[in-house]
Amino acid sequence: MKNNIEAFGENVFSLKVMEARLSAPTFEKLKKTIDTGAALDASIADEVAEAMKEWAMEKGATHYTHWFQPLTGATAEKHDSFIFPDFKGGVVTGFSGEELIQGEPDASSFPSGGLRATFEARGYTGWDPTSPAFIKYDGAGAATLCIPTVFCGYNGEALDKKTPLLRSMKALSEQTVRLGKLFGIDCGDTMAKATLGSEQEYFLIDADLYDARPDLQRTGRTLFGKPASKHQQLDDHYFGAIKPRVAAFMADLDKELWKLSIPAKTRHNEVCPAQFEIAPVFQTLNISVDHNMLTLETLRTTAEKHGFVCLLHEKPFAGVNGSGKHNNWSIMGPDGKNWLSPGSNPHENAKFMTIIVALMKAVDTHADLLRASVATAGNDHRLGANEAPPAVVSIFLGDQLTDIVEQIEAGGAKSSKDGGLIALGVDLLPKLPRGNTDRNRTSPFAFTGNRFEFRAVGSNQSPAGANVVLNTIVAEAFDYVCTKLESAVAEGKEFNAALQDVLAEIIKEHKRILFNGDGYTDAWLEEAASRGLPNMVTTPDALPALQTQKAKDLFAKYGVLSNEELESRFNIYEEVYETLIGIEAATALDIAKSMIIPAVVTAINEYSSVPAVAGITAEMSSLLEKTVAGITALEKAESTEDEVVAMGELRASVDALEAIVPADIWPLPSYAELLLV
Ligand code: ADP
Ligand code: MG
Repeated sequence: MKNNIEAFGENVFSLKVMEARLSAPTFEKLKKTIDTGAALDASIADEVAEAMKEWAMEKGATHYTHWFQPLTGATAEKHDSFIFPDFKGGVVTGFSGEELIQGEPDASSFPSGGLRATFEARGYTGWDPTSPAFIKYDGAGAATLCIPTVFCGYNGEALDKKTPLLRSMKALSEQTVRLGKLFGIDCGDTMAKATLGSEQEYFLIDADLYDARPDLQRTGRTLFGKPASKHQQLDDHYFGAIKPRVAAFMADLDKELWKLSIPAKTRHNEVCPAQFEIAPVFQTLNISVDHNMLTLETLRTTAEKHGFVCLLHEKPFAGVNGSGKHNNWSIMGPDGKNWLSPGSNPHENAKFMTIIVALMKAVDTHADLLRASVATAGNDHRLGANEAPPAVVSIFLGDQLTDIVEQIEAGGAKSSKDGGLIALGVDLLPKLPRGNTDRNRTSPFAFTGNRFEFRAVGSNQSPAGANVVLNTIVAEAFDYVCTKLESAVAEGKEFNAALQDVLAEIIKEHKRILFNGDGYTDAWLEEAASRGLPNMVTTPDALPALQTQKAKDLFAKYGVLSNEELESRFNIYEEVYETLIGIEAATALDIAKSMIIPAVVTAINEYSSVPAVAGITAEMSSLLEKTVAGITALEKAESTEDEVVAMGELRASVDALEAIVPADIWPLPSYAELLLV
């Protein structure tokens, strides 16, 4: 029998498929474009398009689409069939190089944040050959050839999440290659690549129960709901045995992902009942981002097949853990090695420490931008809620690495914790703990042995935004280090001595960003404030970081986002935030008025003739009054901020009612029901 693994890559126009179906010269040219980021040779496009169409039609496809990632944070597709009339009463099929390379969807309804007025709504999609085309089957089994593309306006302005991502990868590559040269690594025009593995958390709930919760349906989270008496307190769900119905879902999910060459690797129960995680093997960043977007979609569609709904909201349930997307990020140098792995000789270690110190500079200088990149209405419920990292950005390096950093600051060549001596470029580093040994789960930005894990990304977000920031701020820090080193060396300074000076200076300035302790404590928030680290608690606090001169200069300098493109992001994210809160407020009002109040009135009537429960009746009446007042307050709320506060107050009285209104009268499925898959 064919097992699921054998289906790996079945639906992807992979390099292997290309090699088999393209002429040798065309394949070589395309491969060069993919490997080096060189401009696409337009003369090969027709041949590639024809081969893609033939392959796709063998898989049952009748249509193709340029698959892109607009600023809504979702993915978008518009299907075109391969058919042309032959003007003899029949049809022929065709797919030209031009159609492969460029498309022109009607862009007027995608957010542009002011980049483009609707009367000049033309937007263009352009093929991204670095991400392979794939076949997607819809619920009815119809197949569509999906071509990953970027999405730009008439003058090339980026209207999507992928264009800046590719630009930021290029900027990072350029500075990484430059840094490599200073360390004697010269690999010609081979690029360095950022790598990403995103661990994805999600909830599964029963579809029937979901259908009875208008709040879940309209907003993705429960706007009301009293915490269940048993939920995650016992931690008995975490890594527990996977129940058969969920196991069947997971097997199906893996199979669908594997068909798309998504290397789904790890699956397990999470801390909260009904919560799970899936993690792929890491890959080149842009491919990993595409794959995460496809994973989100596949989670939803596979859940549906199994009678579940997959909740991807960052905080579907109050009082239990929310869902994040741990962003495991590293740099693969042009030599193909992981440059965030401590090396095996002093020279490699000097490079490794340079990168670590540059990251300190990057994250400290632009902590506000990293925070802004994860600012959404959903994630506001999660960050700082003792389950996810606080809104304060800091770096965890672990004791040993911190010790080495301190030695470099103090001038190098001092005794290390296990007795060795450290001088950059001369000594071996003491063996650093790898992977799971030295963990701090409370840090937003943790070194985990051979990569950094940015833990603040929301489960429902595209990973693109956070990585655009990460790539760009690291490119800037590398640029700084290279510029200093190049000029010191030009002045005749010895390389290791120059490096020691540059790193010591950076450490002095930016060591405040290091924190190895418990990030969930109030003591840390106080300490962070005294260090001057920003603590931007809400999305409205965080987004203005995108409007600073610092941010404008950064993204413009590295060609990632023009000032206008950056401003457009601010406009869109702010509007999305306000719109989402508005939808939540309207939904809360609907539920409170049309479901909660009638149920409470019924309960009060039923109880009113029984003197023994007069106390409960009175309590219900008083909470009902509070609920009515809460409704009025929410209706009157004038700002988004007021809406957030008023929703919280309304919820408090409704949840208190849920505790005393008879369960058979309460109109919404309870947390206990929802969370028991
Ligand atoms: P944990 O839950 O302990 O953090 P997981 O194994 O669930 O670990 O997830 C770790 C993720 O980090 C995986 O997606 C893995 O592929 C990824 N990863 C490992 N090495 C790198 C690297 N060099 N660059 C980017 N991601 C990496
Ligand atoms: Mg992790």
